[in-house]
Amino acid sequence: MEKNTTKKINTFVSEEEKTLDWAEVQIAFKKTFGAEVYNSWLQKISLMKEYNDFLILGVPTRFFRDWIVSRYLDKILEQVKSFKLSLNRIEFKIIEENKQNQEIAKIEELNKVTEIKDSILNYNRLNPKLNFESFVKGKSNDIALSYSKKVCEHLSRYNPLYICGGVGLGKTHLLNAIGVDLESDNNVMFISAERFMYHFIKSIKKNDMVNFKDFFRKSSVFIIDDIQFLSGKESLQEEFFHTFNSLMEKGSQIIISSDRSPMKLDRVQDRIKSRLAGGLVVDIEIPDLELKVKIIKKKIEEIQNQFKENISIDDEVINYIASESKTSIRELIGVLNRVIAFSRVHNKNLTINDCKNILKDVFNQIRVITVDKIQNVVSNYFNIALSEMLSQRRSRPLARPRQIAMYLSKKMTSRSLPEIGRRFANRDHTTVIHAVKTITRLSEQDDEMKKNISQIKGLLLEQ
Ligand code: ADP
Ligand code: MG
Repeated sequence: MEKNTTKKINTFVSEEEKTLDWAEVQIAFKKTFGAEVYNSWLQKISLMKEYNDFLILGVPTRFFRDWIVSRYLDKILEQVKSFKLSLNRIEFKIIEENKQNQEIAKIEELNKVTEIKDSILNYNRLNPKLNFESFVKGKSNDIALSYSKKVCEHLSRYNPLYICGGVGLGKTHLLNAIGVDLESDNNVMFISAERFMYHFIKSIKKNDMVNFKDFFRKSSVFIIDDIQFLSGKESLQEEFFHTFNSLMEKGSQIIISSDRSPMKLDRVQDRIKSRLAGGLVVDIEIPDLELKVKIIKKKIEEIQNQFKENISIDDEVINYIASESKTSIRELIGVLNRVIAFSRVHNKNLTINDCKNILKDVFNQIRVITVDKIQNVVSNYFNIALSEMLSQRRSRPLARPRQIAMYLSKKMTSRSLPEIGRRFANRDHTTVIHAVKTITRLSEQDDEMKKNISQIKGLLLEQ
């Protein structure tokens, strides 16, 4: 029983596992290294095994490996990190060419028939726990919740339903809840924009667009998560637009989530934005204290029911946790899990002082935040390539994220201004000072900036 409990709690605490799309990484390689280097070297690298913090890549010969390691390893690592931040090491394995081809052929054979179907089973599974009952209602999500329910009652009345809100505020949960509710009577498709792209690229490569189109267009409820991912990806937008239009034409219900409103999507074509905004757009805001307290109580109740054990946490302590956790509900739940784990280990009722200690741990993590990490998180957040963010280009969509990354490097690491400047492609320390001043000012005056900064901080603290 005891063992079981620990295991369950672990899954409860753990973040979503992220898996690499090797096809996508390859595309990025081509962009970064140029066609020539890519064709002669990088294209031949295959992904053999993926772990949370390292990869095993297959290469054809020893010479090939040595060449890659001596010339491209740093850049390769940087690139894969931009897809999956937790990676910090790469190992190479030499596969004889024949064997490699055989392996690939074998896999391709296996995949051929059921490819799209399989991946739907693997990746688009709805999580039955993320339903309407487990979603706690509050001022910040009331409207989004009630329209999500209305959509389930009257399909196609609000079409598309577009739910927007910051990281960790419950968008995926709501989308999932809608899917769970409609699943039994409809052909529901639930997919993240990132996965949509993965299938798209794969289908192009295999010359199998007909299947792709059919597959996505036959759903009667199409739910797509994190649409901001489409920004800057022209051909993907085009395909999405066609899918979207044909679904609308045949009366399918579409539900979309994004971290921002349709009109604020960067580098997304205007006609797409206006179609996205053409149904109903609802917002999820930052939760107030009351909602945070309710969520904590609900979570405690769930854990108690699940493990048949009594967890007693004083209201005073609950209030304290709720008021200290500011960035997202995901963070709030993370902190709560720590507190519960602590009270289990020490087998005692917690005081506010205990909580302060536990939370201090959370804040201590700030010290291990590195400039590198900040750069990765910021460029991911704004959906731009790290190399672009560090480049000399001055356009606003690159310059602002760059300044934010400098600002956070100053605030969250112990690096000096000149050191930070050097890490940003050898910029002068006065540039860093300017960035810090600009972002400080903007984050006082501009709500959007305030929100961005707080969400990025949240992401950094979560890692
Ligand atoms: P987002 O997709 O907006 O980044 P998620 O839907 O993944 O956020 O939510 C983050 C975590 O917070 C999930 O574990 C989710 O179940 C939980 N959560 C968010 N909002 C609520 C809510 N209103 N009631 C209960 N749990 C919530
Ligand atoms: Mg989400």
